[in-house]
Amino acid sequence: MTANHAPVVSLVGAGPGDPELLTVRALRRIEAADVVLADDLVDPRVLALVKGRLLRVGKRGGCISTDQRFIHELMIREARAGHRVVRLKGGDPFVFGRGGEEVDALREAGLEVEVVSGLTSGIAGPAAVGIPVTDRRASPGVILVTGHPGEGRAEPDWAALARTGLTLVIYMGVARAADITARLLAAGLRAELPAAVVSAAHTTRQRHAVTTLAGLPDCIAREGLASPALLVVGEVAAHAAALQQWPEVMGDGREVMAG
Ligand code: SAH
Repeated sequence: MTANHAPVVSLVGAGPGDPELLTVRALRRIEAADVVLADDLVDPRVLALVKGRLLRVGKRGGCISTDQRFIHELMIREARAGHRVVRLKGGDPFVFGRGGEEVDALREAGLEVEVVSGLTSGIAGPAAVGIPVTDRRASPGVILVTGHPGEGRAEPDWAALARTGLTLVIYMGVARAADITARLLAAGLRAELPAAVVSAAHTTRQRHAVTTLAGLPDCIAREGLASPALLVVGEVAAHAAALQQWPEVMGDGREVMAG
């Protein structure tokens, strides 16, 4: 890009944590950015790659968070000033990341927007503990769904989701796990159906547990598994069990699966 490039904003997926999981394009955009507006979920090791100005514009439920309109205005102002703007989001910007809303706002302001996909935590998180979200022997598909649709927004039809027989990967579901579990059981899912919780996947705080659907709420409380975390409901969750004792830590702190 030249100095007089067209005003452009890149919505960049930072992946679930470990900077080694950034795409090459994401890394290039982060390094070239004049200003980076980053979400809370972005791993500190990824933030450390920022060479320009770093603005934290977290949106944590329940805490003081930056107003979405303010974020839009900030991006528009910075881009119009001729700065290379990166909007950095955990995981993939188009998976529960308000990426769609931001693209609309930027386009309405006449700006060019580029989306740089990232690894979404709902796929890379289960994988980090050995869970394939699909497996033709057990589940022909996967549903990515939010456990926290947001105020005034419709609750997912849990009974309908249960009937599909597909793996359910539930984002933002830890706080509401008891309610979600009850609805899935009421819809006819087996109490003994394998379920897993993966917390802070691909970060230095990664933890997980494998249980049953009926045991999910107690397991979360007992193990103290906190947000950000994913709930995985379905036969594939049982795959994590075999790996539970396996992770080894490499010299650089990365976990590898031995065997
Ligand atoms: N755009 C993100 C999702 C943002 S919504 C993505 O594609 O991954 C925030 C939710 O994502 C969290 O509540 C949690 O359910 C999940 N999440 C994000 N990062 C995570 C991680 N490293 N480990 C486990 N869950 C994560």
